Amino acid sequence: MPVALPVTLYPDEPMARHSSWRAGGTVRYYAEPATPDEAIALAAWAREQQLPLIWIGRGTNLLVHDKGFDGVIAAYRGQRWELIEHGETAEVWIEAGAPMAGTARRLAAMGWAGLEWAEGLPGAVGGAIVGNAGCYGGSVAEVLIAADLLLNGSECVEWSVHDLAYTYRESVLKQLLHADIPPLVLAGRFRLQRGDPAALTARMKAIAAERKQKTPAGSSCGSVFKNPAGDFAGRLIEAAGLKGVRIGDAEISTLHANYIINHGQARAADILALIDLARTKVAEQFGITLQLEVRII
Ligand SMILES: Cc1cc2nc3c(=O)[nH]c(=O)nc-3n(C[C@H](O)[C@H](O)[C@H](O)COP(=O)(O)OP(=O)(O)OC[C@H]3O[C@@H](n4cnc5c(N)ncnc54)[C@H](O)[C@@H]3O)c2cc1C
Repeated sequence: MPVALPVTLYPDEPMARHSSWRAGGTVRYYAEPATPDEAIALAAWAREQQLPLIWIGRGTNLLVHDKGFDGVIAAYRGQRWELIEHGETAEVWIEAGAPMAGTARRLAAMGWAGLEWAEGLPGAVGGAIVGNAGCYGGSVAEVLIAADLLLNGSECVEWSVHDLAYTYRESVLKQLLHADIPPLVLAGRFRLQRGDPAALTARMKAIAAERKQKTPAGSSCGSVFKNPAGDFAGRLIEAAGLKGVRIGDAEISTLHANYIINHGQARAADILALIDLARTKVAEQFGITLQLEVRII
């Protein structure tokens, strides 16, 4: 008898709709569970169907091959949050599907400091926790207390920030992404301090203005490569003469060489060809092997 799932399955969903690169192939089934129970039911179903499962957030750091993914991709959409105040400090518990920047802005307006660096950071809280997202002097590792995880699609546990073993854009979770049923980040608990709402809002406005100036316009997934120790991937790609190089509708940004822009009709293959080119040229000219920050599925 077929299992009645509490979450809708979208067959043959184009993943270009769910990647900020606006490119990529289809997935056999796409779903958007919004509660732990829905995620547990979906994971059980995927296991029963012997289909690999990938949890995602808002798709601002991933690309699916043009040939697609023969499995299930599920974007966790729970967005509840709860603030627990202790005088001058507080803890905020935020579900993984909540937008990182919007939540930071809301907390700052209420006079809570700690996440204001995340102004303008695309994506959801879960994606930021997995990749130790960071910018403008802050990062997840510095403010996270613990994360609620769903392990093996069935067991809800809490891992402390130490358990997550964060380094630059890396975590233990990233090492576990390729399991058939990888860990799902359900929520994070972050440390906050009381601050002046006007000063916090002003700081965030300044960050937003700087971001606007530095971020290339158009569809992208942000920085493609991690910065190698003591250098910048963008500087190396630019020095290799690759700014503005175009394959199909994909282009290495003329403003920031660690961004690849989709001008409209780029295929994942075009973006991947530029990734290969940047890697090869930088390795040839500088002896440095660039590591991907974005995930290729
Ligand atoms: C214009 C632009 C600017 C950017 N600037 C920055 C920046 O300044 N700093 C920075 O760090 N990043 C930046 N990024 C990259 C991106 O915003 C971050 O990596 C973000 O945290 C990804 O969140 P997401 O929800 O979109 O994750 P996704 O892209 O959906 O997923 C990223 C990875 O996390 C996994 N994942 C996501 N959610 C979950 C979950 N709930 N449970 C388990 N696994 C999950 C996915 O499988 C994937 O491996 C930028 C991106 C863009 C487009």
